[in-house]
Amino acid sequence: MKKEKELYRDFLRSKNLKLTKPRLIIMEAVFENHEHFNVDDLYEQIKKKHKNVSRATIYRTVPLLVESGLIKQSLRCESKDIYEHTYGHENHLHFICEKCGKIIESGFNDVAELIDTLAEKENFKISEYNLGARGLCSDCQ
Ligand SMILES: [Zn+2]
Ligand SMILES: [Zn+2]
Ligand SMILES: [Zn+2]
Repeated sequence: MKKEKELYRDFLRSKNLKLTKPRLIIMEAVFENHEHFNVDDLYEQIKKKHKNVSRATIYRTVPLLVESGLIKQSLRCESKDIYEHTYGHENHLHFICEKCGKIIESGFNDVAELIDTLAEKENFKISEYNLGARGLCSDCQ
């Protein structure tokens, strides 16, 4: 069994929930795709192969995936929440183009170090970084 599936199953079990077929399909779809996505994108992706997973089920399952720590909500674009799976990926920051919606990922280590130093001064324990900036990509300037 893949590690992410195990983590997901254990997480669901800790909430007294079962790893049902739709929950598994949704999780697998999230890991098939290494891009950023919103719930509607995910629905379109799943619909191609699995006609019986409803949009409502996906809307209910995504917060569980977030809570499990496998994915996170990284951004908001045009008032939609944008997610990505974070399990198996390094921390990164996002530059988001206000015109075409392109999301550029960028390295993070120097910034993370700085944030860690600042957090230490405040005796603050970080559980999640969420960094980014908006602007115009090179094509849209
Ligand atoms: Zn990935
Ligand atoms: Zn652009
Ligand atoms: Zn990202």
